[in-house]
Amino acid sequence: MSQPPDLTEKDRQNLAQCVDLAREALDAGDEPFGSILVDERGGQLFADRNRVAGGDHTRHPEFEIARWAAEHLTPEQRARATVYTSGEHCPMCSAAHAWVGLGKIVYASSSEQLTAWHDEWQVPAGPVRPLPITAVAPRIEVAGPDDELSARVRRLHARLHGIDDDPVR
Ligand SMILES: [Zn+2]
Repeated sequence: MSQPPDLTEKDRQNLAQCVDLAREALDAGDEPFGSILVDERGGQLFADRNRVAGGDHTRHPEFEIARWAAEHLTPEQRARATVYTSGEHCPMCSAAHAWVGLGKIVYASSSEQLTAWHDEWQVPAGPVRPLPITAVAPRIEVAGPDDELSARVRRLHARLHGIDDDPVR
């Protein structure tokens, strides 16, 4: 997995903040996912983290971002905004992102990586098939994963599943 050339230093800073939010979610008993919405000038508009511990498994940050954007931004602002996220959108969130007309998505770790980690750790498959964003929403521009940050995300997911992951990774 080579470093995608299209990630800038600013992109990585935004992704690092998403991974921090993912850690905050895990520390609170939720699942380790965090996301932020950034406008066309790079200003942060909204940030959230996973909140599924209460029992509602649709409480994904990417879904909250789509709803916030639909309520607060014009269609033009949405199209020019970028969503940064610790883990690639699930099909539900990819669909929500596309339905509200948001722009680019940049992710620290891919659904393909998450699936491989789950296979390695023998974590049972969830009720929704993991698919690449572009399999659900083919016109969305995407970038990611990031080698270094996806290693951090892997450690958070290992912790979620009680896996003693290699500490040198
Ligand atoms: Zn989702």
